[in-house]
Amino acid sequence: MNSLSVSNPPHMTLVESSPGWGGIGMGADGKFRIDGSALKAGYKCSTAATLRYGWGLTAKAEKAALLAGTAFHKAAAEHLLGVELSQALWHFDTIYKDWAQVNVAADDKLAWMNTRLITQKWIEAHPLEGEGAVRGWPFAVTHVEVPFEVPLTEVDGVEVLFVGRMDVAGEYLGGYVVVDHKTTGFINAMWTDQWAMDGQVTGYIWAARQLLRDKPVVGAFINGVQFSKLPNDGARKCKDHGVKYAECGPMHAKWEVVGLLERNAVMVENWLAEAVPMAQGLYRLWKQAGADMEVLPQLHGGDVHWGVPVV
Ligand SMILES: [Zn+2]
Repeated sequence: MNSLSVSNPPHMTLVESSPGWGGIGMGADGKFRIDGSALKAGYKCSTAATLRYGWGLTAKAEKAALLAGTAFHKAAAEHLLGVELSQALWHFDTIYKDWAQVNVAADDKLAWMNTRLITQKWIEAHPLEGEGAVRGWPFAVTHVEVPFEVPLTEVDGVEVLFVGRMDVAGEYLGGYVVVDHKTTGFINAMWTDQWAMDGQVTGYIWAARQLLRDKPVVGAFINGVQFSKLPNDGARKCKDHGVKYAECGPMHAKWEVVGLLERNAVMVENWLAEAVPMAQGLYRLWKQAGADMEVLPQLHGGDVHWGVPVV
């Protein structure tokens, strides 16, 4: 490997690319695609963004959180589409079980059994109640898993598309809302408050306004789900439930709906004012690295993925 160093940053472990990766890339149609995560990572460090999204480098702990989150997204989507609990959890297992059993300690908060149980409890607490209504949700579901591609800008004569997938689009007070599932280690006030100004939320609302034209897009909701270790002590008694933690553990599963998160025209303009040059910069970075990236797949015997072998 030449000019562009891909030496392993100390906080990152080189692993295979995340499933469903599609952050940055040039499509066969000659359009460059970028997603909200890439833009967000790009704000912090464009080199790290290129490494992560170009080559799919992810720390192992981060990968566990990503993969468990992906598994939750899939199970939640299947549930919202009306499949049975056991089927929804089957999807969870398909995505996460084998990997987690090898890579995550059984007593870790991100262990397969723990995250599966939280997912099960969340599904059980959110039954479908007809006409798109979901118990515990203030909005009605109109769409599940909506992929989108929206023209964002142009750079060096190349069109740049903002791409993503809305987990849910819903109806709220006569307009549309965008809903995002977020799994997190701990839901507290700081976690909840961050969404009021979050750029990815703004980006999704902007995208929804380009796509959904028949009604106003009034804002977003976050469906926060806490992936923390459920208590399972067989000796200590829980003060809240009056039984041993081993018995009431699943009742400690926690989630919270955050919203309505509104974005006015000024907030959207401010997001665009940052996102457009960021997307252009990431395109130019990608282009510089392009020559190296073409070489890498050959290292995998023609297997097309952007992983870098660990030596
Ligand atoms: Zn308890």
